[in-house]
Amino acid sequence: MLLGGLLKFTLIDYPGRVAAVIFTQGCNYRCPFCHNPELVVPDLFHTPLSVEEVFSFLQKRRGQLQGIVVTGGEPTIHADLPEFLGKIKAMGYLVKLDTNGSRPDVVRAIADARLVDYWAMDIKSSLENYCNAAGVAADISLVKASVEVIRNAGVEYEFRTTAVKGIISETDMKGIRALIGAGSKYHVRRGNLKSKMLDAHLADRPDYSDEEWHKIQSCGGTL
Ligand code: SF4
Repeated sequence: MLLGGLLKFTLIDYPGRVAAVIFTQGCNYRCPFCHNPELVVPDLFHTPLSVEEVFSFLQKRRGQLQGIVVTGGEPTIHADLPEFLGKIKAMGYLVKLDTNGSRPDVVRAIADARLVDYWAMDIKSSLENYCNAAGVAADISLVKASVEVIRNAGVEYEFRTTAVKGIISETDMKGIRALIGAGSKYHVRRGNLKSKMLDAHLADRPDYSDEEWHKIQSCGGTL
């Protein structure tokens, strides 16, 4: 594993749990609104954390933290992710895994091995607009396959979208609803144009009007 960061305490990243967050380094997408370019663009990578030191921290926090969030970058690009999650589970932690869903084979293997207790998958946009939002020629069939695996994994899950004007429209939101199907927990969050983003030019774009945002936001919640 290449680990790019560790947040030692959070009450907001694992719903209902006191948790820590481990950030993996590297991603196969290039979402223009990405807030973690230093985990995505190799030229911006910091020296990776020591995996041993991260496990030493987890060992010390047993009984104090309930869950560990593994996020990225994109965790599923790392071949030893299942082993890594297995070690965290073996320490007695609940595991939440954040993914962009581009590797359904990995998602399926991890789900089958019961290594994750809570899945969170980004839905970048409608299928028609997916590559624009992901910043790469994303294979939509892989995204759809991951949605199906996660919906049927038998554990808690959520889908979520970061919405930025010019990338996500109301029409896209309808497409996203169709993609993830009924009964799924779904959140849409407004991209912060003032914060650091992979495409710095996004800061020059206009944001949604209140009316536009209301229409986008009304597509959130459990569908
Ligand atoms: S927002 Fe996009 S580019 Fe950034 S880590 Fe997630 S999938 Fe990768």
